[in-house]
Amino acid sequence: MPVYRGKQLDGMRAACSLARDILLESASKIEPGVTTGEVDECAAQLMRKSGCVSAFLGYQQSGGTAFPGNVCISVNDEIVHGIGGPRVIQPGDIIKLDVGIIHDGWVGDNALTVPVGSVDSEVYRLLQVTEESLHVAIDFAREGVMLGDLCASVDRHVSKNGYSVVREFVGHGVGKKLHEPPQVPNYRPETNLPRLKAGMILAIEPMVNLGAAGIKLLDDDWTVVTADGKASAHFEHTVLITASDPEILTWREPTVSEYETRPE
Ligand code: MN
Repeated sequence: MPVYRGKQLDGMRAACSLARDILLESASKIEPGVTTGEVDECAAQLMRKSGCVSAFLGYQQSGGTAFPGNVCISVNDEIVHGIGGPRVIQPGDIIKLDVGIIHDGWVGDNALTVPVGSVDSEVYRLLQVTEESLHVAIDFAREGVMLGDLCASVDRHVSKNGYSVVREFVGHGVGKKLHEPPQVPNYRPETNLPRLKAGMILAIEPMVNLGAAGIKLLDDDWTVVTADGKASAHFEHTVLITASDPEILTWREPTVSEYETRPE
């Protein structure tokens, strides 16, 4: 289980703040009439301009095809790993944008869900609860806490509000590589998870379905959708465990929830 310190953390801080800036600037381009491919291209340009590369482009699952996008952009019932293309963004859509970059050998990973125009109040509430659940989990991201308790906190907040966490895709350690141990499920798994230590860095990323938890994989081999066709939301931060408060390396103001703002 990698633990990072000193200058390594400076590298992670730089990569993560860049990942945050690119996420927010690309998200600001999301509006009716824009295609998902244009949002992807905008993010790619920002990466080139700032001297980093996509951590997702060309990413290969064991035995699978390489991911063809620069970012993941997933619409409505698409949960994660959507690919930008000719699809035109419509009023009422929700767009999940996930930006992972490699800068100077360090990986920053973060995501949010953007409501386009006015969305269904039920769907808007889903976004709020999902962003809240991310911050509930981050409050557990402290030295000495059992990782399983952090994972359980997401499921608890989500279930209490009547929604379902996705079980097939999980958060993860992150640092020199996009996916490092430990896995960070959004529920308490059967297996024991480690106790958190200062220097561990976690990508915490609740994926929450409005309806049932079930998923399907589309023919493109990447895009994951809800089995029942209902909406899904996704929010993610890269978080450093410290000797005191968690440090949100991809910090941004909460975008839809009223979660209390953390002091710097
Ligand atoms: Mn991630």
